[in-house]
Amino acid sequence: MKVIDAHAHLVHNPAGLDQIAESGEFEEIWIMDLSGIGELAGYQFADQAEVLEITRRYPGFFRAYGFIDLDRDPPEQVRKLRDLGFIGLKPYKQLKPYSDPGYFPLYAEAEKLGMPILFHTGLIAQSRRYSGEVTRGFGPENMHPAYLASIAEAFPGLSIVAGHLGWPFWEEMEENYYYYANITGDISGYRKCIDRLPALLDRRAHDGTDRYFNEKLHFATDEFYGTPESNARALKIKHFWELYFELIGSVYYRWGAPEEREKFFRGNALKLLKESLKES
Ligand SMILES: [Zn+2]
Repeated sequence: MKVIDAHAHLVHNPAGLDQIAESGEFEEIWIMDLSGIGELAGYQFADQAEVLEITRRYPGFFRAYGFIDLDRDPPEQVRKLRDLGFIGLKPYKQLKPYSDPGYFPLYAEAEKLGMPILFHTGLIAQSRRYSGEVTRGFGPENMHPAYLASIAEAFPGLSIVAGHLGWPFWEEMEENYYYYANITGDISGYRKCIDRLPALLDRRAHDGTDRYFNEKLHFATDEFYGTPESNARALKIKHFWELYFELIGSVYYRWGAPEEREKFFRGNALKLLKESLKES
């Protein structure tokens, strides 16, 4: 099945993208621009121009969310990023909790322009140590899933995407999906929680939409596309989830039925995309 990878990254000087695009495995891949961050987990990320370049080189296949610096960018930056061609926003390692009112003008602008925001939740990769000056956040403390609930209430028209299931703040994450229609999330990373996933995907939300959680969670790899190893890993992750849905889900659970599976692998992401592409 062709799937949408709704949360991925791109390395500097990426290689092997033609093969990925022509593999027949992916319908689309959404790149989160982390060029404001520099190096992470031993990878040098693509800069903004490189990210935009591949969205132009592979139109409708690679799409991108722009890096937004919650602590320093003015609200006008949101429109700027949209005009550059980004379909959503990606903050990272900000200094204060996501729900800090100081960030609200940016969220208001994103809501107005129909720019979804993908928020990392839970544990996070370690990067540079303290060097006498604090320019961005450390650890997961400002990235609790519960902060997204505050934003969801204040901005009901904003599409909030929670990355990675919020591990280890599992309960906060689950209540977000249960109560807030405008919070969805991706499954990338933290496969440790796989034992709880079957019940989670079959949980019915109480968010006014009568959806099950498999309609609120979508497929993503969080891979750093552009190196042979990460390109191969992305395919492996895709095959893992396909087999999981087919060989376990379809046999024992409601969420494994082909039409439910389809939502997880592409339908939910397409809904999000429709919002991003709406004129505003
Ligand atoms: Zn990521």
